[in-house]
Amino acid sequence: MRRKVAILGATGTVGQRFVEGLQGHPWFEIAVLAASERSAGKKYSEACDWKLNSVMPPEIGEMTVVLSDVKSVEKAGNIDFVFSALPGDLAGAVEEHFAAKYPVVSKARAHRMDNDVPLLIPEVNPEHLVLIPIQKKNRGWNGFISTDPNCSTIQLVISLKPLVAFGLRKVVVSTMQSLSGAGYPGVAALDIIDNVVPFIKNEEEKLESETIKLLGTIKGNKVQDANIALSASCNRVNVKDGHLEAVFVELEDKPSVEEVVKAFENFRGEPQKLKLPTAPEKPIIVRKELDRPQPRYDRYAGKGMSIVVGRVRSDPILTVKYLCLGHNTIRGAAGAGILSAELLAKKGYL
Ligand code: NAP
Repeated sequence: MRRKVAILGATGTVGQRFVEGLQGHPWFEIAVLAASERSAGKKYSEACDWKLNSVMPPEIGEMTVVLSDVKSVEKAGNIDFVFSALPGDLAGAVEEHFAAKYPVVSKARAHRMDNDVPLLIPEVNPEHLVLIPIQKKNRGWNGFISTDPNCSTIQLVISLKPLVAFGLRKVVVSTMQSLSGAGYPGVAALDIIDNVVPFIKNEEEKLESETIKLLGTIKGNKVQDANIALSASCNRVNVKDGHLEAVFVELEDKPSVEEVVKAFENFRGEPQKLKLPTAPEKPIIVRKELDRPQPRYDRYAGKGMSIVVGRVRSDPILTVKYLCLGHNTIRGAAGAGILSAELLAKKGYL
């Protein structure tokens, strides 16, 4: 029996990736598609401007989109849990209403930094799921909220996790983020053609705060932040999909470049051990060419679920520097949500 899921924000950039990623999923099936008043009452094929290379699944195109509230979703079908791809500023209250009854796996920023809400990357911190029973008790909910990090944070932290064993102390990161990261229609063409925009609202703050929560440890009823200093600088570039990040790290043990490359290549997490359906075989793929990773060639590595690291070299100021690339709407968004839900299901939370 596959678990039935509602997608909130189903017509958007991330919502479309959820629809695509759930096709033929062995454990989950789409029961309800929800979005705003603009889309409610329309067939998905009429409400959604499908922007993916794949074809919109015909049976999904025939489904009627409903409003993103508990009553409308329940009227449309039975559900076991919810994926939320709502805009961050309105996700907070909506997700809480759903969480009173159902598990919610959220891509939105609203609850990421709450003390009793897991901020999850299944390969990085599956132990943070112990926050779920605490959250349910604190809030008196039957369901719960589990959040996924911001897209640029996910790929950075996957690359940092194998470096923690070397005594990770400082991280400097400069991002080159794609246009789809801003949703649709996103950045105006006249702002980005022939240009780089050196500002993405709240992005640097998210990278800095989410990273230390993700790499933190459970102490008592909450996460104690990791003792890592992090400085981020974020830029929007004229690329459709795939964020590229230049990362500089200080590692106490001063490993060689070869040892760092080996740590990236050998890194495996809980999803790989449990053989979760969406888990890439390798969370990190290392490219040895001098000019990789590049968004156009590397963003679909591991079906968009692997991150690609390259140009690993020693750094004259810190210890090591490298580039890392991730597909922002797959590993950074819907693919991350589906993998989180698979881990939650396997661990008995769904
Ligand atoms: P988007 O393309 O702008 O889509 C927004 C979705 O939310 C659409 O389905 C829209 O429905 C719906 N929506 C808008 N206003 C609503 C309202 N008042 N009530 C109910 N639904 C409403 O945005 P996105 O890029 O998919 O991002 C969705 C979420 O994921 C955001 O929280 C974002 O920060 C996060 N995220 C995005 C990325 C990325 O790479 N894009 C990565 C990680 C996380 P209508 O079509 O009916 O307007």
